[in-house]
Amino acid sequence: WPAGGRAGAGVLTMGGTEENVSMGVAEANRLWEAGLSVLRRLADHGFQAYIVGGCVRDRALGRPFHDVDIATSARPEEVMGIFERAIPTGLKHGTVTVVHDGAAMEVTTFRTEFGYSDGRRPDAIVFVGTIEEDLARRDFTVNAMAAGLDGKLVDPFGGMEDLRRRVIRCVGDADARFSEDALRMVRAIRFASVLGFRLAKSVWRGIRRQAPRLKNVAMERIGAEWDKMMAGPHPERGLGLLARSGLLAHLKEPLPAAAFVCGGQESGAFRKFLPLHQMEDKDVRWAAFLAGTKASPEEAGLVFRALRFSGARQERIESAVAFARRMDPAQDREAFIDAVLDLGLPAAEDWLAAVAEPEPYRAWLRQMGVYAIGDLAVRGDELARSLNRRPGPWVGRLLRRLLKEAAAGRTANTRETLLSLAAEIVEETE
Ligand code: ATP
Ligand code: MG
Repeated sequence: WPAGGRAGAGVLTMGGTEENVSMGVAEANRLWEAGLSVLRRLADHGFQAYIVGGCVRDRALGRPFHDVDIATSARPEEVMGIFERAIPTGLKHGTVTVVHDGAAMEVTTFRTEFGYSDGRRPDAIVFVGTIEEDLARRDFTVNAMAAGLDGKLVDPFGGMEDLRRRVIRCVGDADARFSEDALRMVRAIRFASVLGFRLAKSVWRGIRRQAPRLKNVAMERIGAEWDKMMAGPHPERGLGLLARSGLLAHLKEPLPAAAFVCGGQESGAFRKFLPLHQMEDKDVRWAAFLAGTKASPEEAGLVFRALRFSGARQERIESAVAFARRMDPAQDREAFIDAVLDLGLPAAEDWLAAVAEPEPYRAWLRQMGVYAIGDLAVRGDELARSLNRRPGPWVGRLLRRLLKEAAAGRTANTRETLLSLAAEIVEETE
């Protein structure tokens, strides 16, 4: 079966230069070898074992991967006994993390799952005897393949054929699989987006019918899938599918309306931005997407909070969206400098990384030389002392004024020039 197959333009991941991809593939090959070595050790003890799931799919596509998962007939305690370095990370689910040949791998006992009464996780898991039964619990055909030691591929659901046809299809009946675990609907869109695949008709119909079940799913898990989608090579595709799927209307927690306007990238405001996949940084993509929907900074922040992204990311997105808003419609140099000083250099850089035509803004930004009060060659206490006045709120205002003058190139950023300019300004305003 094809190992390290095509690595064509369509499979480049974020920041995917040819070099990055081939480095990623070399790393993936090393992980794969470590996985085979675990299979060999388990086989020597009389157990069946296979490499399974995402890495089998990615290897067949020639895509780099970072995790190798193994399924085995050995019970967790048997796995613990066989490997020197084994950590019981998920015994409830039959999972042991094994560190072997310098790689950490999840080794999980063949299992099936039962009774999804809450629509998000099984009530019970049961160990089973064969890899085929284990593969049957998995979500999509392309994720339900296993590679054995002899190079043999176990592919009971036609995953390889679906990889060739570039289609996401459920293992079994789509409606049934989505009602077991509603997150799978979002995963279907994530995989279609990241891999550049289409959704099988049955999957699309299943999503349209089962969408209301999404209310059972934790927002954090939806955020994780959405975030992977944004980082992939075809985020616009995923956003369009999400919008048309109707899923966003059925989230456990509503998102501000702006986030519903996915997939409008061809229209109006989006023209000023690069296509999302040409932006290196995932959060720059998020900012451009949300700014393009005309979300306010507060709404962008709410989207991030609802999806349980970190406070640091939330602040970053709010500033970048605020910056985009300040620059729409296009602004002159003075207004640009004000925006940088109000919202900060990182926000300006995020916006510049998103726009199709960064000049002359990039040059203006470089020429500024000072971006925050801390970059000035004088401190507030020095100002107060030199002007012989009691410190007060005037100091901050004066520093801000000096900052603007220095950033605009109307004064040099040296102690003496700033102090004399400060004296002039104070005199003028009295
Ligand atoms: P990636 O790691 O690139 O995001 P992946 O396919 O490895 O993709 P994981 O979330 O790591 O995805 O899951 C590993 C495997 O476990 C999947 O390939 C799939 O076989 C199975 N799986 C994961 N989540 C589900 C689910 N919600 N329902 C059914 N099977 C699942
Ligand atoms: Mg994985």
